[in-house]
Amino acid sequence: MYRVLVCDPIAREAIDLLRKNNFKVDFVESPAPEELCRIIAAYDVIIVRSATKVTKEVIDRGEKLKIIARAGAGLDNIDVEHANKRKIKVINAPEALAVAVAEHTIALMLMLLRKEYHACRSLKEEKLWLKKKFLGEEAFGKTIGIIGLGRIGSEVAKRCKALGMRVLGYRRHKLEEKARELGIVAAPSLDFLLSESDIISIHVPLNKETFHMIGERELNLMRPNVYLINTSRGAVIDGKSLLRALENNRIAGVALDVFENEPPREPWEWKLITHPRVIVTPHIGAMTKESQRKTGLIIAQKIITTLSTDQ
Ligand code: NAD
Repeated sequence: MYRVLVCDPIAREAIDLLRKNNFKVDFVESPAPEELCRIIAAYDVIIVRSATKVTKEVIDRGEKLKIIARAGAGLDNIDVEHANKRKIKVINAPEALAVAVAEHTIALMLMLLRKEYHACRSLKEEKLWLKKKFLGEEAFGKTIGIIGLGRIGSEVAKRCKALGMRVLGYRRHKLEEKARELGIVAAPSLDFLLSESDIISIHVPLNKETFHMIGERELNLMRPNVYLINTSRGAVIDGKSLLRALENNRIAGVALDVFENEPPREPWEWKLITHPRVIVTPHIGAMTKESQRKTGLIIAQKIITTLSTDQ
């Protein structure tokens, strides 16, 4: 019987599915690396979300470890390279999250355009009826530039088309083909997208190439009244340059779901978060009941399939 260690909460149905398939499942909530090192040797599979770190040391102590499963998308908290070296499979379920993140991106875009956060806050907290102050803008007819046309970027593109927007998309590979499939305009370069868009939304993975891909130069290429949305990974934007651009009135508004440090801890991060033209959410893009359920079930199914084909 395979033993599974679940370190961060996952859908009940996923645990039931594993148990029904004869897996012994234990739950230890967010163990510190030392504790994880102490207990991991007994397990064939470890399931984590973003809180638990699967470090090189944890992997080395996992003598029986066959699968590291991330119930989500990003693998930033797992030493994937070391797992590969030890021939331990790393699996995730990014396909389960695209709709949730795309819907959140659209919500942030509309909140920015209609100043809904400030309108709601001033009425509820300050009891102020500031109807004239909140003259917003419509998404209809505006150009959105989507950087990264993968699972999430594509779902965002479809929704923006339905809102009557002109959609520009950019990615490194097979751009023309993808743009045709989505019925959007392929941006010939990132610089073109940056300078042509009223709204820019980022959907690339974080890697060496995309770290701080939006910095001072890129911010300077954007229209002065641009709206910028990031629901990908915080470090894709150079946050200090973004803060400077906001302070110099180079940007109309920013919406962030992701941050370089989560939770944020640097003074410049708090300055960015509390800036009056910035709206923020605490990395909730994928947090819907539907996506969490789907994620758990996909992960459980992948574990069952992998271990049954390995036998
Ligand atoms: P994906 O791999 O399906 O798509 C990524 C896209 O980015 C691809 O089209 C790829 O070609 C493109 N790309 C890669 N490098 C690029 C570059 N240098 N320039 C231009 N394009 C580039 O990924 P996805 O599932 O759509 O996820 C996108 C992002 O969203 C990731 O950063 C992921 O971590 C993040 N994410 C956030 C949340 C959240 O809760 N906010 C949830 C899930 C995923």
